[in-house]
Amino acid sequence: MDGTLVPWDQATVHVLVHGLHYGTGAFEGIRAYETDRGTAVFRLTEHMERLVRGCKALGIPLEWSADDLVKAGKETLSVNELRSGYIRPIVFYGTGSMGLNPVGASVHTVIASWEWGAYLGEDGIENGIRVAVSSWRRIDQNSLMPNAKGTGGYVNSVLAKQEALRGGYDEALMLNTDGYIAEGSGENLFLVRDGVVHSPPVAAGVLDGLTRHTVMTLLQEDGIEIRESVLTRSDLYYAEELFFTGTAAEVTPIREVDDRPVGSGRPGPVTRRAQQLYMDAVTGKLGAHSEWLEYI
Ligand code: PMP
Repeated sequence: MDGTLVPWDQATVHVLVHGLHYGTGAFEGIRAYETDRGTAVFRLTEHMERLVRGCKALGIPLEWSADDLVKAGKETLSVNELRSGYIRPIVFYGTGSMGLNPVGASVHTVIASWEWGAYLGEDGIENGIRVAVSSWRRIDQNSLMPNAKGTGGYVNSVLAKQEALRGGYDEALMLNTDGYIAEGSGENLFLVRDGVVHSPPVAAGVLDGLTRHTVMTLLQEDGIEIRESVLTRSDLYYAEELFFTGTAAEVTPIREVDDRPVGSGRPGPVTRRAQQLYMDAVTGKLGAHSEWLEYI
């Protein structure tokens, strides 16, 4: 917390922090994996760079550089004696201003790490999840920046996630305000049709996911055609395969969308290939792209 190691139960903030009242913060989600050469954090620097960019976009003065955050992130894993796990950095306005204008409020930077298994469940990774198109639209580019990973924007994701769970589904899929496919509450979407892999462009109002980029790179290098495409709801129903990507969700197959089976209702070959390439990359078994692994 703000440059000092603090035990879990003392890592507290005041009830009047600006970030709590107005959602004025930005965060990241990062995973570390065990490899043959020890613990490696996957694309750690790029995650921290995205946080620095997010703070800039939201106008939050961050006193730390991406390099500082990289060092601190690694340190939290070491002191928590985690060989694999999840790292959550967050930057937010503290106390000092109770009005909307945050000038005068302190800025806090916190990095926590803990063990975290499959975000959408082991069964989800293995057999695929059930997804429904949400009644909530993904927050518009001109209302908030989906790409900045601002804390307040996640109220949109929480509403969609809760609605999906209450309806008996595992995850929500949000359309943007133009009615085109955007993303899950915390994952990017991929669609396979006629052997071509499609994902909505960032301009559709989605987070520029690092897992999305990783999977696109690996599948392309594997000889599969990748396109960024504006996708409609019927594209979902016609898809041979659908899957989600995200640091927490990794590569999670979607077996059903709006109560319609996706393809055969079992994870398809491109999804399986994406899962395998991704897991090989994060655990150092791929050989290529060792630049993505940042060892402790
Ligand atoms: N979309 C949203 C809304 C997210 O919160 C996340 C998780 N950070 C993603 C996509 C996936 O991004 P990444 O692959 O960088 O974790």
